[in-house]
Amino acid sequence: MLDVISIPAFNDNYIWLLRTAGDKRCWVVDPGDAQPVQRYLESEGLHLEGILLTHHHADHIGGVMELATKGVTVIGALQDIYRLPPLNVQVTGGDRFQLLGHTLQVLELPGHTLGHVAFVALDHQPPLLFCGDTLFAGGCGRLFEGTAEQMHASLQTIANLPDSTQVYAAHEYTLSNLEFASRVEPNNPQLQQRLQDCRDKRAQNLSTLPSTLLLEKATNPFLRIAQPEVRLALQQYFPDASCKEDADAFRLLRSWKDKA
Ligand code: ZN
Ligand code: FE
Repeated sequence: MLDVISIPAFNDNYIWLLRTAGDKRCWVVDPGDAQPVQRYLESEGLHLEGILLTHHHADHIGGVMELATKGVTVIGALQDIYRLPPLNVQVTGGDRFQLLGHTLQVLELPGHTLGHVAFVALDHQPPLLFCGDTLFAGGCGRLFEGTAEQMHASLQTIANLPDSTQVYAAHEYTLSNLEFASRVEPNNPQLQQRLQDCRDKRAQNLSTLPSTLLLEKATNPFLRIAQPEVRLALQQYFPDASCKEDADAFRLLRSWKDKA
């Protein structure tokens, strides 16, 4: 059983720390800042064994050089070796490796960046997904490098994971995402409930993460492209655009969110 600890960084980043009870070893995902991680390691007497990187943006890798002292394993995408800090293990989609007694599998998720990967522990109950800036609670990452087709396909890859998968995204963007989502689907009762739950959590300064894939499928419009309500909303917002294909609809929805 892995414990996943959230270490807040910057304004709205989460650095996820993985540990198991009775073990002093731990791993972190996307340490954009070394300081809050070091503080946690010291206060808990933990030893950093490795670092997972989802993509090359500074708010995800900024702390690596400081944290990756001798003996710390840094794992990231082979495709981005020239834009990531030095890696000990270079991975591509489908690769598997061991971490604290569990098997993690690599998913290739181009879109936000071209070399974006995610890590999923499928042998964990429930499965755990570390998806960086691809899927957010209630939303998805911006298209900085990839196409709408790529990002849509990447989100479909995630959607094919088990419904019980816990979604550990890298940012606390949930409230603004759900506010946009409720403009797209004003009559989705689960979405309204989730929006209220997240408002309550944020009012108490609590994290809205992790989410579950089941909840994302019910409320995240970027995973609901095929729903007639979402298509209707797109048709109304973009009366002149054609959105016959799912990828076209995805592109329109992403551009609507970018302007919102
Ligand atoms: Zn990013
Ligand atoms: Fe980010």
